[in-house]
Amino acid sequence: MGAISCGREVDVIVVGAGFGGLYALHRLRTAGLELQVFEAAEGIGGTWYWNCYPGARCDVESVEYSYSFSEELDQDWEWSERYAAQPEILRYIEHVADRFDLRKDIQLETRVTAARFDESVDRWTVETDDGRRHTAQFLVMTAGCLSIPNVPDLPGLESFAGRVLHTGRWPQHGVDFEGQQVAVFGTGSSGIQVIPEIARQADHVSVLQRTANYSMPAGNGPLDPEYVRELKARYPEHREAARQSFFGNGIVEVGDGSALDVSDEERRREFDRRWALGGAAWVMTAYNDLIVDEAANAKLVDYVHSKIEEMVGDPETAHLLCPTGYPAGTKRVCQHTDYYDAYNRDDVTLIDLRTAPVTAVVPDGLQLADGRTIEAQSIVFATGFDAITGSLLAIDIQGRGGRQLRDKWADGPRNYLGLMVAGFPNLFTVTGPGSPSVLSNMVMAIEQHVDLIADLVIHLRELGLVTVEAGKDAEDAWVEHVNEVAHATLYPRTDSWYMGANIPGKPRVFLPYVGGIVSYRVKCEEVVARGYEGFLLSGTSVTA
Ligand code: FAD
Ligand code: NAP
Repeated sequence: MGAISCGREVDVIVVGAGFGGLYALHRLRTAGLELQVFEAAEGIGGTWYWNCYPGARCDVESVEYSYSFSEELDQDWEWSERYAAQPEILRYIEHVADRFDLRKDIQLETRVTAARFDESVDRWTVETDDGRRHTAQFLVMTAGCLSIPNVPDLPGLESFAGRVLHTGRWPQHGVDFEGQQVAVFGTGSSGIQVIPEIARQADHVSVLQRTANYSMPAGNGPLDPEYVRELKARYPEHREAARQSFFGNGIVEVGDGSALDVSDEERRREFDRRWALGGAAWVMTAYNDLIVDEAANAKLVDYVHSKIEEMVGDPETAHLLCPTGYPAGTKRVCQHTDYYDAYNRDDVTLIDLRTAPVTAVVPDGLQLADGRTIEAQSIVFATGFDAITGSLLAIDIQGRGGRQLRDKWADGPRNYLGLMVAGFPNLFTVTGPGSPSVLSNMVMAIEQHVDLIADLVIHLRELGLVTVEAGKDAEDAWVEHVNEVAHATLYPRTDSWYMGANIPGKPRVFLPYVGGIVSYRVKCEEVVARGYEGFLLSGTSVTA
């Protein structure tokens, strides 16, 4: 980096131009603030820019996985499929940016590298990788919960002569696998989507599986125009119902009984009904105790195993694809289209990394511990992300007294409502750790956070005050609550990215808030009604 030069002075700097950054820009600009958004990518869209691998699509229904802030936008936009594919979601995001004239305040290809709170002027100084320094009163982090790819540290990877790809950094111009042997690592949501698509093109696909995942059929297809017309006639009410739901999803019918109170036949019928409807949320919410009671969960595990055995011809492959050793739903449940069928092809081979780990990557493929060599001209990593805290801690963020966020969060994230960190005034983390974020319809979670931030900033300005931050006591109480709620479920038992377990050395802490969108929303409303209880507005003495 060359010498630092001065950039813009604005009210708010926003990091990231995905769903979060764009809404923050729109909402805060409408409130009269001047903003600058920095985005590392060459285009806007965040997740939906980077993850342009074949098969990428949402797993929350398109009519809900979209902004709800504009009734006109809801009425005008036409989704073509129940679960829109990445190109359509990106087109939607670009439409929103144009419609609300957002692009003029977004600087692309610019990564924020550092942010320091200057107590002498109560402002943030933000450094970008173009060698410039910018200042703002507020810093809004919309850098993404799933935006920092995790690439396994495989011995010899640098010697590989072919192409190495990660689903979260897919080339914008696409990839031609025609005539190739391809090795795919990872069988989470991304792997399950990309594997059947690569199999259609390549000569041969070797899937290297470490842990089998629970996956439900997507049941995707074109949207029925009559259904859409009927939904649009009551869109505002529908959106409100989604806001008042557990996941931010108003379509799914949530079962309120125990899986253990019904006969085996009745339970099977209900699972079958929901499985046929498609959508992971339908199956996961069939009963109210699937994610909290081990015996109830075991009924779902048995059911999913029986479905995999029905779908996959080779019994040994089916056996390997049956998830075991952890409760269903405690890793993010996947949605599949043609995934299990892919294993019925002669040109797809499943390799169990637990029995045959990779000992070395060599120029023309992989060597396994059992002596096999897997030839490959491309390696695809569908190996996930340094989730939730990764994008925040990638930036050198310093709060009061030069305290680094990395130090403060060395044993796991600590904040209030997933939104503000004690000792880091005027820094907001949209869908931060300790908020429902990845355990909900994220567009809805983003809107709720951004609205809360906008209201708080307006309130602060109306009072003629300058800084707001989380109080230490409020932060401690929130962290305790987040952990308490998580430990009342089966989630913490499993090594998942929710627990930070996918990244070597990351603290083992349950990262999101599992209490649900509606209870979280109510808590936030109570905090606001009590005059922003737990937040310290400037003038109040602060101890971080
Ligand atoms: P992102 O979309 O991740 O955007 C963050 C942006 O910040 C990125 O563009 C990144 O380049 C930029 N950035 C990061 N650090 C910096 C920096 N230091 N400087 C400058 N720019 C920076 N959620 C759902 O609810 N339903 C779904 O169906 C769903 N499907 C998904 C599918 C995939 C493949 C993935 C990976 C995630 C999915 N998610 C889904 C989660 C998804 O990430 C969110 O729904 C949503 O898109 C997040 O928006 P965001 O703006 O918060 O973050
Ligand atoms: P992921 O869920 O973290 O899955 C990563 C996969 O890679 C897992 O199978 C993991 O195995 C494997 N893996 C990781 N490191 C490995 C290593 N060193 N060696 C071998 N295998 C390794 O990541 P993802 O699939 O990208 O999904 C991340 C999240 O993004 C999802 O959970 C979801 O929230 C979102 N997403 C959603 C959709 C959608 O349907 N809309 C699509 C894609 C992503 P282990 O399980 O053993 O760790």
